[in-house]
Amino acid sequence: MKASGKVWLVGAGPGDPGLLTLAGAACLGQAEVVVYDRLVHPRLLEFAPAGAERVYVGKETGGHSLSQDEINVLLVARAREGKRVVRLKGGDPYVFGRGGEEAEALAAAGVPFEVVPGVTSAVAAPAYAGIPVTHRGLASSLAVVTGHEDAAKEGSSIDWAKLATGVDTLVLLMGVANLPDIAEQLMRHGRPPETPAAVIEWGTLPRQRTVSGTLGDIGRRAAEAGVKPPAVTVVGEVARLRETLRWFDNRPLFGKRVLVTRTRRQASALSQALVEAGAEPIELAAIEIEPRADPGAVQGAVDGLRRGTYAWAVFTSANGVEMYFGHLRERGLDARVFGSTRVAAIGPGTAEALADEGIRADVVPEEFVSEGLLRALAEHEPAGRRVLVARAEGARRELIEGLEALGARVDELTLYRAAVPQEPDGEGLRRLRAGEVDIVTFASSSAVRNLVEMLGGDMEALRGPLIACIGPVTARAAEEAGLTVGLVSEEHTIRGLVAELEDYFSRTGNTKP
Ligand code: SAH
Repeated sequence: MKASGKVWLVGAGPGDPGLLTLAGAACLGQAEVVVYDRLVHPRLLEFAPAGAERVYVGKETGGHSLSQDEINVLLVARAREGKRVVRLKGGDPYVFGRGGEEAEALAAAGVPFEVVPGVTSAVAAPAYAGIPVTHRGLASSLAVVTGHEDAAKEGSSIDWAKLATGVDTLVLLMGVANLPDIAEQLMRHGRPPETPAAVIEWGTLPRQRTVSGTLGDIGRRAAEAGVKPPAVTVVGEVARLRETLRWFDNRPLFGKRVLVTRTRRQASALSQALVEAGAEPIELAAIEIEPRADPGAVQGAVDGLRRGTYAWAVFTSANGVEMYFGHLRERGLDARVFGSTRVAAIGPGTAEALADEGIRADVVPEEFVSEGLLRALAEHEPAGRRVLVARAEGARRELIEGLEALGARVDELTLYRAAVPQEPDGEGLRRLRAGEVDIVTFASSSAVRNLVEMLGGDMEALRGPLIACIGPVTARAAEEAGLTVGLVSEEHTIRGLVAELEDYFSRTGNTKP
């Protein structure tokens, strides 16, 4: 007998991808088909296997991509093919998501299904705006109401008269357009016009925006601010708590769109740190690591290390470490070739890459630039010693020349080139050109030069955003490229950069609402 398929109705959460449940992630990990809506965060689809079929059935206001019936038919059909189907729905599948109808269709067709509840926007968007939907002494009841229906209509299924005074906190979904009419109904039936209210647009996401007011004026205020769906409205005394309980949208980097120009592989650590600080990272890799090693030179360096020729091996980037150990692995070797050779790293990132390979750097300078490294090495009396320096093509000469001036005999091993990516990220470039970037970050001189090249010399896109550089060398490269550097992080690490950005915007103020 053919294995029968099954459908999981999975809540995707309100927007912030971190609010998907563990059970939801596990379902996605096993999915063969994912059927998803418009408000599902694209990052969640990455939990599904690469080969899974992805079907967008998103409902835009106005134009439905697939009707509800068509969605039901699709779910039944794929399950009958024996597939594991995840129906991924915004928020919670059973809170105004028509998930109940989909379950009914599955039940009627005899298709087995499970439900994985999700974090509903009705509760999460207010929470991210600083509003607890219940609160001791202020609100002991909560109603979640659709604002989709015309509130003035005869025979509306919603009893506004009872809701107006029968419930402490009202949360309205889908009601942006009808908000003035709904407020009118509530006031007519006895809810005081001075009741605090707040509308939260794109809750839990970096673009979250909140308009506060009272029942009497919230409709007008939301319209003036141009609030559009998706938005939830909170009516009740709890809305006042935002003044003291705001936490998400008052972080210094909240809503800032930050260009990350590191290699695709290295981008994620910076992006993650930015997300945690409330910013929206936009990845546009300006560097692609292109191996550039002369096999003879690599072999020579490996043999030299094995023979104990070198007193020091110096690494000036995490990429260099990774490339070098790649060459070792190809030769069936590992960290043991370093034997008693001492190892220096230019900074903590490089030291960490070494640590991943089982090597604890003997020297990491306090200043993560060539000059700092040179000073640190000078203390170890390099005169007459042989030093291996593994680095990128076209890197600065200061380190090599400085070591030679100290009397060291330097073997330079070129391992890679920080090339302009063959296929640049089109969306990142588009957003930069369209002025949708607030901050541009550079972690290396090559990132600066490459990005300028990727823009075809059109520097206009780099005039508006704040230019933030890791370290003075990168900053100098940016200035030489004609950019105005707004911030140089003294600590040449990701955490240092993010901390300095936070500091910068807490001083200058974050202008987002
Ligand atoms: N099942 C969903 C609701 C679906 S109805 C849930 O549990 O959240 C769609 C409505 O949800 C939108 O019109 C809006 O009112 C609300 N909504 C969904 N995501 C939202 C978000 N990120 N911010 C504000 N409102 C949101």
